[in-house]
Amino acid sequence: MPAKAGEPLMPCHPARARELLAGGRAVVARRAPFTIRLRQRTRAESTVEGVQLRIDPGSKATGIAITEEQHRNGPKGRSAIARRGLITIELRHRGQKIHSGMMRRAAYRRRRRSANLRYRAPRHDNRPRPHGWLPPSLRHRIDSTMAVVVRLCRYAPVLEIHVEHVAFDTSAFTEVMPSGAQGGESTHGASEIREFLLAKWERSCAYCDATGVPLNIDHVRARSRGGSDRVSNLVLACVPCNQAKGTTSVHAFLADRPARLERVIAQLRRPLQDVAATNATRLQLVTALAAQGVPVHTWSGGRTHWNRVAMGLPKSHTLDALVTGFFDHERGDSLVRIPAQVLVVGSTGRGSYARTTPDRFGFPRLRRPRRKIQHGYATGDLVSAVVPKGKWAGRWVGRIAVRTGGQHRITTLTSRFDVSHRNVRLLQRADGYTYGFAHEIRLSGRRGPAYSGPTLKGGDPGNVRTPDA
Ligand SMILES: [Zn+2]
Repeated sequence: MPAKAGEPLMPCHPARARELLAGGRAVVARRAPFTIRLRQRTRAESTVEGVQLRIDPGSKATGIAITEEQHRNGPKGRSAIARRGLITIELRHRGQKIHSGMMRRAAYRRRRRSANLRYRAPRHDNRPRPHGWLPPSLRHRIDSTMAVVVRLCRYAPVLEIHVEHVAFDTSAFTEVMPSGAQGGESTHGASEIREFLLAKWERSCAYCDATGVPLNIDHVRARSRGGSDRVSNLVLACVPCNQAKGTTSVHAFLADRPARLERVIAQLRRPLQDVAATNATRLQLVTALAAQGVPVHTWSGGRTHWNRVAMGLPKSHTLDALVTGFFDHERGDSLVRIPAQVLVVGSTGRGSYARTTPDRFGFPRLRRPRRKIQHGYATGDLVSAVVPKGKWAGRWVGRIAVRTGGQHRITTLTSRFDVSHRNVRLLQRADGYTYGFAHEIRLSGRRGPAYSGPTLKGGDPGNVRTPDA
C-alpha cells in the first residue's frame, strides 16, 4: 500500500491496516480496492519484495489475483515455491449489455432510415475497420481489465504479470468436424476440435463426470441415425458410457437421469461465440499488458486447469487466476493461502448520453435530467448513508442512484431504499464500477452472499464493514 510519496509498498493484512489507521499513521487513499497511504514511512525505509499479478481472462468475468512467492523447503529437502494469494478480484464484464445496447441503437437507426429516407440508394459497407478492431462488447473486456490492472500496478509493487493465453485455436476448425477427428490420421483441425470439446466438457465424461480416463468423441445423435459431425452434436464420453449408449438416442439413454439430460442438452447448445470471443480478446489483452512496462508471462489454459485439478480446487475465476503460471508439483510447489473474500468488481458504465428514456418501440417515454450531478451526487457514487428512523434506520454503505428531488436511492448487497441527500456522505466518486465482496467458493462450498447487481456490502446497520485491503 502506497508509502508517503505514493510509491507502492507490500500489501498488508486488514488488521494491520486498521491498526495503522487507528493510530493515525495512515490515511485512506481509496475505498475500493481498499488502499491506505502511510503518513511518515517512505519506500526507502521499507522492505518491498514485490508481488505477481495473475490474470485469468474470461468472457463473462475475469479473475485477477495478487500473489507473493517465497522459497521454502519442499518434501524432498529441495527448495520449493510457496505461493500466497494476497488479493483476489472477480471483474464482471457487461459485454452482453453493450451488445444489446448496440443492437437496440441499430434498430432505432434502421427505423429512422426506412421511415424518412426510403428512396435513398443503399450505401455500400465500404468503411474498412482499423487493424485490431474488436466489437465494442469485446473491446470493453480489455479496457475494463486494463483499468483494474493499471490501478493495481499503481497501488502494489507488481514485478511481473502472468496471464492465461489462448486455450485453443478456433480459427483452425470450422464448425464441421473434419473426417479423421475420431481416430486415424489426426489433423490440426481435429486436434483443435478435441481441445475445444475438452474445454467445453471440462475434461470429463458428459454422461458420468469421469475424469482421468480415456475420453471418446461421442455423437449425441448417432451418425447411423443421421447425426451430423457439427460440434453442437459432439460430446466427450468415457469408453463404458460411449459403448453403453451406442446408437440409442440421448433421451433414451438418460431417461432415468432427467437432471443429467437437461444439463447435457444445455451444455450442447452453448455457442462457440463465447470461446471464440475469449480467444480474440486474450491476444489483444496480452499486447496491452506488455505496454505496462512489467514483464508479461503467458500460459496456456490447459496448464491452469492442470494446476487447479492437481491441487484439488474447484473452478472459479479467482482460483484459476491464483494457479495461473508455473507450478512444479513434483518439487512440492504449493498454493499456501487463498483469500477468503473476493472483491467483486462489476462494470456498470458511466451512464448514458441519451436525452430520453425510450419505451420498447423506441419512442421517448421520459426525459432525462440534463445534469448528471443532483444535490452533489452522481449515480454510481459510493456513499455512506445514515438513516435516522424507520425500517432502514442505521448506517449503510452503498451505491447511489440520484433523483432530481434529492431523495436518492441507495443500493447495498442486502437492501435498497431512498434517503435524503442531507443524510449522505461521499466515500468515492463513481468510476464506472461497483464493488462488493463475496466468499471464495472453496471456503464456503458456494459463493455467497449472492451478488445481486451493483452494490457494495452494507453489513448490519450500525456495523459497517470496511472493505479489506
Ligand atoms: Zn462416462
